Amino acid sequence: MKQLSSLSSAQLSNWLMEASQEAKKGKLADYIPLLQRTDSSLLFICVVTKNNIFLTQGDSKITFSLMSIIKPFLLLYLLSELGDNFIFTKVGSEHSNYPFNSLDQLQLDQGFPRNPMINSGALTLASLLPGKDSHTRLNNLQEWLNKQSNANLFLDKLMLKSVESLPNLRNQSIIDNLTQRKHLKEPEITLDTYNKICCLSATIIDLAKLGLLLVNSPNISSKNVSIVTEIMTTCGLYEASENFAKKIGFPSKSGVSGAILSIVPKEGAIACYSPPLDAQGNSLGGLYMLQKIANYLN
Ligand code: GLU
Repeated sequence: MKQLSSLSSAQLSNWLMEASQEAKKGKLADYIPLLQRTDSSLLFICVVTKNNIFLTQGDSKITFSLMSIIKPFLLLYLLSELGDNFIFTKVGSEHSNYPFNSLDQLQLDQGFPRNPMINSGALTLASLLPGKDSHTRLNNLQEWLNKQSNANLFLDKLMLKSVESLPNLRNQSIIDNLTQRKHLKEPEITLDTYNKICCLSATIIDLAKLGLLLVNSPNISSKNVSIVTEIMTTCGLYEASENFAKKIGFPSKSGVSGAILSIVPKEGAIACYSPPLDAQGNSLGGLYMLQKIANYLN
């Protein structure tokens, strides 16, 4: 069995060239105008070991929005603030075969969000963040994550403007449904908070640092790390989660911006960014790189 720390720069760079060909088959997310205008040839990877050794390929200064990659970290923060007993009275931990923003899934489950990686679950968790308004809620999560991981996540205001420029009817319907069922309070603050935390942005190195929170972080309980990584394994890649778990197996989370963060338990983290997506909304270049690394690690 090979270890993540034995990967070489030359290997990563070869795979990255192949991944750039794969990425050409994908499409940019089209429901957020600014994402649709992203340079589709961007492709970066950062592998970090638990001893803080970084291997980076591609431009490490360009930043991108995390979008749904914030969801496992929202869960991690709330587990540490409010405890798992309470959190799992508000969201489940089961896999969903429906799209991440599905209202049908919520109806089917009688208004109980199936897991925190889909929008009904993440919106519910966003409503539990401490703070009187969306700005304070964003700050509380952002500050905690930056302090724990030594990363520099920041709010991309242009991306937020772009997200808010078109009404997101799906997210609005999910919020209305959860509010009617009294599962969620303060719907407007909640939706604003959710949009803001999805627009937290980072470099590829900062995303990898965030990943290390789920590998070895002195201040984070191993129980919470296990809860979050288990949910990432079964629910992290939209409808492709099951297939990905069988083929690749790393606990991972993807976002519509084209980023994917994977955890190699006890060893380190892998952050990939390549904007073109496959039909399920996962980065094609990122999936290619992760498959190569999984094969290498056997
Ligand atoms: N802000 C996005 C949404 O809710 C995030 C989606 C994603 O990355 O999956 O539509």
